[in-house]
Amino acid sequence: MKITLEHLTKTFPGRGRKAQEVETAVSDFTFEIPDGKLIGLLGPSGCGKSTTLNMICGLLKPTGGRIRFGETDVTDLPPERRGVGMVFQNYALYPHLTVRQNILFPLQNLKGKDKLSKGEMAHRADEAARLVQIEELMDRKPAELSGGQQQRVAIARALVKMPHVLLLDEPLSNLDARLRLQTREEIRKIQRATGITTIFVTHDQEEAMSISDLIVVMKKGVVQQIGAPQYVYDNPVNLFVARFLGTPPINVFAGAIRGGVLCLGDDRVLPVGNLPDQEVWAAIRPEGFVLDEHGPLRCRLSGIEVMGRDISVVSTHESFTGTAIRSIINADSQVDPASALVRFSVKPQKLLLFNKETEERIPVRG
Ligand code: ATP
Repeated sequence: MKITLEHLTKTFPGRGRKAQEVETAVSDFTFEIPDGKLIGLLGPSGCGKSTTLNMICGLLKPTGGRIRFGETDVTDLPPERRGVGMVFQNYALYPHLTVRQNILFPLQNLKGKDKLSKGEMAHRADEAARLVQIEELMDRKPAELSGGQQQRVAIARALVKMPHVLLLDEPLSNLDARLRLQTREEIRKIQRATGITTIFVTHDQEEAMSISDLIVVMKKGVVQQIGAPQYVYDNPVNLFVARFLGTPPINVFAGAIRGGVLCLGDDRVLPVGNLPDQEVWAAIRPEGFVLDEHGPLRCRLSGIEVMGRDISVVSTHESFTGTAIRSIINADSQVDPASALVRFSVKPQKLLLFNKETEERIPVRG
């Protein structure tokens, strides 16, 4: 089912010294989420992700704007009438109930025309358990399960009502790194198998990029950019989005364009077409550096970090804005750790320029 958000806004009254002001948690969010897609809602803590999700599921009433599921306006409907399944960070399973009873629980509360027979309920519970592969755990209590298994039970419990929309709020944060990886792939598989339109909230950009059809990057309640993960990574609209996506993060330099060439300090790094002379933020992805003994970018070598397949060359430069430049180089490349200097050339497609004042992207042509 497609979900339409129209000018969705939520303000909260200010507290303490800010009691006279309102705090805008989500501002004018407009977007049509296509049917059957997995959307990653992404941004730093406090940017309004959970508030958006809670308005979509009906736990919070918007201050302004409308929400539609398909053609139906659900803005004023209570959560139980919206047909949403929800999974939160703390999966909150009932400890005294078995896995089967936990999964059945939402069905036992259905009333009126939605009420199901015992047989139908059992069939639905089995089906949901099969989807998340916990059939053999149905008679255990939550305390007898691993974190990942508990999370799968929580997902089964959300699926059992056959929701039109699945909302996942940081569902993996309680899992260790390996399990996170595995569970996120399972979520992707389940989403594909069911075709349920799913919104996945996370502050972990890698997680969102790896499983989402589309990502929405938010900052302070305002949507910055919506698009396919790779597209947004390659074409961020502003410096905030560029910095937020990617590990290690993008390397940002205070640069200048002089006579059609990007200059970083005294280094004339790359031609950038016919852009007028100006100060810019020049940002280079870690994979955008190429070791080159005659390369134009001359950095002071601080160290080398071995990462298995790749190595990370750590260096500094007078116009760099952070503490250490991290460039990812194939492990076969030779860097002399004793050398004071390391020289790079820069891949043009991995260099992004941003306006010094507005921090918006400056398109570079040829
Ligand atoms: P996190 O990743 O830390 O969960 P988030 O992106 O989900 O953050 P929200 O929880 O949506 O962020 O909060 C957005 C903003 O709204 C924050 O500044 C928060 O302090 C504020 N906020 C959220 N709920 C309330 C509330 N009930 N009353 C007042 N302010 C609130």
